[in-house]
Amino acid sequence: MQGRLLIFSAPSGSGKSTIVQYLMQEHPEFNLAFSISATSRPPRGMEQNGVEYFFISPQEFKEKIENDEFLEYEEVYQDRFYGTLKSQVERQLEAGQNVVFDVDVKGGCNIKEFYGDRAMSIFIQPPSVDELRRRLVARATDDAEQIERRLAKAEEEMSYAPRFDKILVNDDLETAKAEAVSLLRSFLTPNL
Ligand code: ADP
Ligand code: 5GP
Repeated sequence: MQGRLLIFSAPSGSGKSTIVQYLMQEHPEFNLAFSISATSRPPRGMEQNGVEYFFISPQEFKEKIENDEFLEYEEVYQDRFYGTLKSQVERQLEAGQNVVFDVDVKGGCNIKEFYGDRAMSIFIQPPSVDELRRRLVARATDDAEQIERRLAKAEEEMSYAPRFDKILVNDDLETAKAEAVSLLRSFLTPNL
C-alpha cells in the first residue's frame, strides 16, 4: 500500500523539529520517513548533508528549478531557497512509508492541495511571538539578525493557521507530543 503524507508547518522556533523528531524516534509503529528537502542555506550546528537537508549551492538550486525537479519550493528567507524534491517523496511513498514534511506554511498548503486526502496538514502554533523569541535565543543556533528575520516573518505565518487540517498548540511540550501522537494515530489507523 502507498504511504500517506504528514505535513508540519509553523513559524521558526515553534517546536516543529522537536515534535517531528520525537515522533520519528519514539513511534516506529507509524512507519515514518522524513522528507529531506534541498536548501541553498549553509548547514548550521551539527547538521549533515543528506540528513536534515541536501545542502546545495544557489546555482544548483536554480538548475533543479529549471529541470522541474521540485514538487514545491519557496524562497523562505531572502536568498534562502528550500524545496521538496519529487524523486525523494515518490520513492518513499512507493515504499509504503508515511512521509513527514517540515516545510514553511506556503509549501505546506501546496503539498496538501496536491495530495488532498492522502495528506494531513498540521500547524504547530506557539503560545506567542515573545515565546518564539525566547526559544530562538535559547536554541542559540542563529545570530541576532537571523532571529529578527525569522520573527519578522512569524506574524504573517501565523495567519496561515486556519488553512491547515489541524492546529496543534505547543505550549507544554509533553501535552503537544501526546496530541501529535493522537492525531497521527487517527489519521494512519487504516495503514497500521
Ligand atoms: P522549529 O523546528 O519550529 O524551528 P525547534 O523544535 O528547533 O523549533 O524548537 C525551538 C527551541 O524551542 C528549541 O531549543 C526547543 O528545544 C525549544 N522548545 C520546543 N518546544 C518547546 C516548549 N513546548 N517549551 C519550551 N521550549 C520548547
Ligand atoms: P530552517 O532554516 O529553520 O531549517 O528552515 C526554515 C524554514 O524552511 C522552516 O519553516 C522550514 O519548515 C522550511 N522548509 C524546509 N524545507 C522546506 C521545503 O522543502 N519547502 C518549503 N516550502 N519550506 C521548507
